[in-house]
Amino acid sequence: MIRVLFATSEVYPLMKTGGLADVSASLPEALCRLEYDVQILLPGYPDALRAARKAGSRRKARFQLGQYNVSLWQTRLPGTAVTLWLVDCPPLFDRPGNPYKNEEGKDWWDNAHRFELFGKVGAMIAMGEAGLSWRPDLVHCNDWQTGLIPVFLEAYHDRPGTVFTIHNLAYQGLFSHETFRALALPDSLWNLEQLEFYGQLSFIKGGLVFSDRITTVSPTYALEIQTPEFGNGLDGLLRHRQDALTGILNGIDNRVWNPEEDPELSFHYGRNHLKNKAQCQAGLQQELGLEVNGGPLLGFIGRLVEQKGVDWLVSVMPRLLEQGCQFVVLGSGEASYEEPLKRLARQWPGQMSLTLGYNEGLSHRITAGCDLFLMPSRFEPCGLNQMYSLRYGTIPVVHGVGGLADTVQDPQEVGIDKATGFVFTGANADSLLAAVNRALQVFEKRKQWRRLQDNGMAIDYSWKQRARTYGDLYQRILKERDQQQLD
Ligand code: ADP
Repeated sequence: MIRVLFATSEVYPLMKTGGLADVSASLPEALCRLEYDVQILLPGYPDALRAARKAGSRRKARFQLGQYNVSLWQTRLPGTAVTLWLVDCPPLFDRPGNPYKNEEGKDWWDNAHRFELFGKVGAMIAMGEAGLSWRPDLVHCNDWQTGLIPVFLEAYHDRPGTVFTIHNLAYQGLFSHETFRALALPDSLWNLEQLEFYGQLSFIKGGLVFSDRITTVSPTYALEIQTPEFGNGLDGLLRHRQDALTGILNGIDNRVWNPEEDPELSFHYGRNHLKNKAQCQAGLQQELGLEVNGGPLLGFIGRLVEQKGVDWLVSVMPRLLEQGCQFVVLGSGEASYEEPLKRLARQWPGQMSLTLGYNEGLSHRITAGCDLFLMPSRFEPCGLNQMYSLRYGTIPVVHGVGGLADTVQDPQEVGIDKATGFVFTGANADSLLAAVNRALQVFEKRKQWRRLQDNGMAIDYSWKQRARTYGDLYQRILKERDQQQLD
């Protein structure tokens, strides 16, 4: 049985700011079902440690790393049989709220130290130096927070295999040269081919340069990041490593996201009995103080940041509201995006609802209750909400980039019989508006709309097949490592 240490800074339901948390829960679980021994490594955030203690979990190792006392707690990811290791180091991880930012929304001043220590512990476990009886054959790293693990492991000839998954290339873990020196990394790593990125230390480069394989969370994103437009300055490196780079589409947790038995919904429905979807819509409209009028109800859920195309959304909303559309927006993020949304909500009471903040339950009810779900992301490594929407018979309107292009089929491309949603290709608000209007025209033709819903709901978005693809990749990496160690 292949043993894998899955290192991540977020895992649902213990800590979540975005899609990384969903993937870090469902992929390891799916792999465990395929008989891989995947164990998760997570920083010991207060809620996670509390849950572990409550579940009667035990401390399995204790050691000193520099000035810090570190313990490793072994527990299970709630609701699963997956083993979870928590890196308990209170001075670095015992902080409330967001894992990367303080209460004012600023990055913690010592993020480099926090995730250096996390990476070091990951490397120690990988090399059997952390005092655990378990040692992995392979380490699966995720995003910049784990980027130093492959760097630390590079020093060992008999290291496990490594794979680094890019969930979002725009977040790179950049720090000053001073910080680089303070981390006591070997000076020899400070060069353009390794950890330096335009005069800064780049954690993500560690993962991209030193891992055996790199993956992205959709095939199209794997291609896009090799271009200057989407490469965030790393396209050259990624082109150089293209033989090691593949895209594997994310799946979704079919049990958490299932309109047939979603506990967040008062009414349930499915592919062959959609009637109750209208009840879900009416319930949502009532919950949010919107007029109950049969739609069209348009939804958006996500971080209110530039990536998500919130400015395009804001600029098309007045026109659509005037046409009689209703809007439900759930998210939080930058003030420059929150403010115009607040203004619109004030101007259009009963027709536009804005909920600022994070609300898991409401996100399910929006996914179920809306007719259309908008994702005008400028770029989107995979995107989960469009898949949740498809599963819930809610038609996505998306910008044709990254995972959105891989998961939504437009009638203009494949015909109405095969289509699942609407895709626009121009990176601007007008293209978004045109796509929404095309969607609204089909909305009036109930039979065609029903066809789109049915097509989307028929697709299997589960992790099963996709986890198998990761499993095949793990096996390939281990074979290559064996070969290298023989050479
Ligand atoms: P990203 O990781 O870039 O934020 P994804 O689409 O991959 O985007 O994943 C976002 C995840 O976070 C989804 O599960 C989405 O439903 C959830 N989400 C984002 N914002 C909120 C919010 N305000 N309330 C509830 N869930 C949210």
